[in-house]
Amino acid sequence: MGAAPAAARMDEAVFQELERSFSGRLVRPDDAAYDEARRIWNGSVSKLPALIAYCTGVADVAAALDCATRGGLPLAVRSGGHSFPGQSLVDGGVVVDLSAMNGIRVDPVNRTVRAQAGVLLGALDRETQHFGMAVPAGIVTHTGLAGLTLGGGIGWLMRKYGLTVDQLLSADMVTADGTFVTASARHEPELFWGLRGAGGNFGVVTEFEFRLNPVGPTVLAGPILWPVEEAPHVLAFYRDWITGVPDELTTIVVHRKAPPLPAIPPELHGRPVIAVVSCYAGDIEAGQEVLRPLRTFGTPLLDLCVPKSYLAHQSMFDPSFRHGWWYHVRSCDIRRLDDEVIGISAAHALEIPSPLSTCNIFHLGGAVARVGEDETACSGRGVGHTFNINGNAFDAEGFAEARAWARAWWSALEPYHAGVYVNFLMEEGPARVQEAYGADKLRRLRALKREYDPGNVFRSNQNISPAA
Ligand code: FAD
Repeated sequence: MGAAPAAARMDEAVFQELERSFSGRLVRPDDAAYDEARRIWNGSVSKLPALIAYCTGVADVAAALDCATRGGLPLAVRSGGHSFPGQSLVDGGVVVDLSAMNGIRVDPVNRTVRAQAGVLLGALDRETQHFGMAVPAGIVTHTGLAGLTLGGGIGWLMRKYGLTVDQLLSADMVTADGTFVTASARHEPELFWGLRGAGGNFGVVTEFEFRLNPVGPTVLAGPILWPVEEAPHVLAFYRDWITGVPDELTTIVVHRKAPPLPAIPPELHGRPVIAVVSCYAGDIEAGQEVLRPLRTFGTPLLDLCVPKSYLAHQSMFDPSFRHGWWYHVRSCDIRRLDDEVIGISAAHALEIPSPLSTCNIFHLGGAVARVGEDETACSGRGVGHTFNINGNAFDAEGFAEARAWARAWWSALEPYHAGVYVNFLMEEGPARVQEAYGADKLRRLRALKREYDPGNVFRSNQNISPAA
């Protein structure tokens, strides 16, 4: 990042008024901490906010929001800072940062947990696993709970227990006009519906309450690797095998160059592979039986699928998605791994450019599909798979090539696209947002938006424009 960013400065009187009432840290372009404060996970994003407001509670959130609206400044909300396109930053505007609001309280008797919006997934897992429970969420521990939840939340436990939104009991939030609301199935049910899939559009969520589920502490989990040249056979076998697996098992197919990690023998480092990564969250012996056909298919290069702690499995992908690298994602839902889809995937996997690029195919179904499509704003419950194609590089060098590879794979799949998971979108425009929700739901969301944010204050997101 440049040392002397030409960021817009905000009106001094507006800032001073905020400063008088704000209890957290306020960072502006002249501050020494500014460059660090405007950094987010995706190193390819560089934006220049006028103010970053580290909120300590609801009062700070309301004050920062008020400051932005009265100052006529654009606004962004940042919790974990893992938005792929960097929508948690905004040029010339106010970033409402929630990272300091990271309290967690488990209620083991009622099997619920309250988590503030700045909580990261790893911290939530640690606290809930202490009680032998978990909230199904994502697969990288440094992802923010808030952004992930408000878009849906897919991960290792989804086929058994559903999406992260399916565990949500209530959410505290501050809406565009500064009103504090608790949304739940009983209070503000329409808002609660919209929050569960399009949540960044209606206000700043300050705290969540989730249902807990018993998990682990041991799961049968890890990757099995084959040479990428065998992808057509592995994928065809996988497609048939998953039709009979129980909901305890969630798998992700990964295409990438084998990373130089201690668990992987040096001779495999850098070799393009296809891996099926499993997480069986149930009886370990039963899981061994379920996984036997997979681990005896062909001649795997490596089998690292073993009983291990759920916490260890949750952090397995962390080293592959470090902060500051350059990331570009292309995503689509696909109904089935038809022969054509397999052919396209196997061909593009052979072309993998950088050591960091990867295509992950999540297997959905199970509990995800048992929730009705209209029960939450989050959509695409009936599809079989979500493709997340990552064109990644350490920095600018090789990034254009990696990005082109991701786009080419995604484009080749276009005839089979069946929607998209909103949290895996880049800034791709209104048509793609409509693809994420479908026309009917989008209409309902736009009516809700008109009610809670008619001025579209919350627009640095996958935006729902207010109904006219
Ligand atoms: P931020 O960048 O802080 O926020 C993203 C957007 O969410 C904001 O622009 C805003 O619109 C909204 N938002 C954030 N906080 C609030 C709030 N408190 N109130 C209102 N709106 C808010 N997704 C999955 O489902 N499963 C995965 O396994 C998964 N793995 C991922 C791994 C990595 C490494 C990354 C980068 C992303 C992953 N994702 C996954 C996608 C992830 O769900 C989204 O990127 C999500 O937006 C991240 O949330 P965040 O709080 O970290 O992001």
